[in-house]
Amino acid sequence: MMKYLNIFLLLLGVYSVDISSTEHVNYKGHQVWRVIPKSKEVLAILRDMEDAFELDFWSDPVATGRPVDFRIEPKFALEIQDHLEMNGIFDYTVYISDIQDLINEQKSSRKAWTATEKAVASSLDTFVYSQYHPAEEVYEWMELVVAEYGSFVSKEQFGVTYQGRPLYVLKFHKPSSSGNPKPTIFVDALIHCREWISTASLLFIFKEMLRNPKYTHMIDEVDWYFVPMINIDGYVETWLGDRLWRKTRSTGPGSLCTGVDGNRNWDNHWSYPGASGIPCSYTYYGPMPASESEIRHLQNYIMGVGKGNIGAYVTTHSYTQLILYAYGWTEELPPENEELNATSKLMHDAIKAVHGKYYTYGPSAITIYVSSGDTADWTYEEMGIVHSYTFELRDEGRYGFLLPPDQIIPNGEEYLAGLEVLSNFVRDDYEGSGF
Ligand SMILES: [Zn+2]
Repeated sequence: MMKYLNIFLLLLGVYSVDISSTEHVNYKGHQVWRVIPKSKEVLAILRDMEDAFELDFWSDPVATGRPVDFRIEPKFALEIQDHLEMNGIFDYTVYISDIQDLINEQKSSRKAWTATEKAVASSLDTFVYSQYHPAEEVYEWMELVVAEYGSFVSKEQFGVTYQGRPLYVLKFHKPSSSGNPKPTIFVDALIHCREWISTASLLFIFKEMLRNPKYTHMIDEVDWYFVPMINIDGYVETWLGDRLWRKTRSTGPGSLCTGVDGNRNWDNHWSYPGASGIPCSYTYYGPMPASESEIRHLQNYIMGVGKGNIGAYVTTHSYTQLILYAYGWTEELPPENEELNATSKLMHDAIKAVHGKYYTYGPSAITIYVSSGDTADWTYEEMGIVHSYTFELRDEGRYGFLLPPDQIIPNGEEYLAGLEVLSNFVRDDYEGSGF
């Protein structure tokens, strides 16, 4: 009976689990090393080191010439050094010398800020965009938007997380001056919860789209759906326990490890190469397609918006500065490759013009590596949204997932420039064809 009551409460979204047992993970002495593999042999050596030395790959060993970043534990440092040199790999560099120092810097910058200003500002203007915000403050930001722009912005709950937290989407549906229907863009963030910049940059971007006369045309011309946080359980964990947590927080019966990689769990070529069947792996695809509450609810919601009703889909990650489109699961080119490549180049150019940052672009599997069951393949293949993009934001590895808060606004400014290009493209495409 208790079980059914719990399920009932879970469906209602009022169930919450005790997270006080969260353990604080300390990364003192942990480092991030980088190797740029010049051959397939070096790639294989790096891959084989994952289990032996408990490496956490921040960027995977899958393509020659592409930097491989991995976190190492201090107890393995000398052994790893020996192992690399024994295998003829001498050009490794220590990219981050102490991960905990960076985590502490992020924390102290927030502390200095909360001491002088209110933890949650009372309006969209005084909300502090140059800081990272925990889940409850992101929820409050959504409230601020709806309070002020309730005439055309609404907040809708589309499900609950594994631990029972509400999942929300903000809908920006401003009636057009002509009264004609408008095209739609769907944007999400934080499927990988350690990628804090994904949510932080988008809070800034949507504020700009509402407030800055230069960008309000984006909301006038296009309807937007914005999911600021997908993996909220994991996000809470990154604030209270393990800053580098990536997966969801679900636990399967008898499983030794917590969590599923949300970006391998979508119901498209699920469990194909480019994802792992091992529950403890960082890229575990889960016990079944869309097994994760967050993914299942988001899939259902997007299906509810309907095929043919979404002009573009953008899912936000970090890091390495990339614009990726279909396919992830195969190295085949999508039929619309030329158009997708041209649009990506325009976004790349607009981004570069803001702060000079380069975002590499191309089909996902070819540009980085094969990955199956990811968001953009699902929206592309199952929903027929040709313009489905994965954005990997800053940086190129200097700070990796621990991007300092003073880069949130600059990163937001360049991502906004990219989204403006997409917004204009979707507008013109819609006017030309009405889809
Ligand atoms: Zn990611």
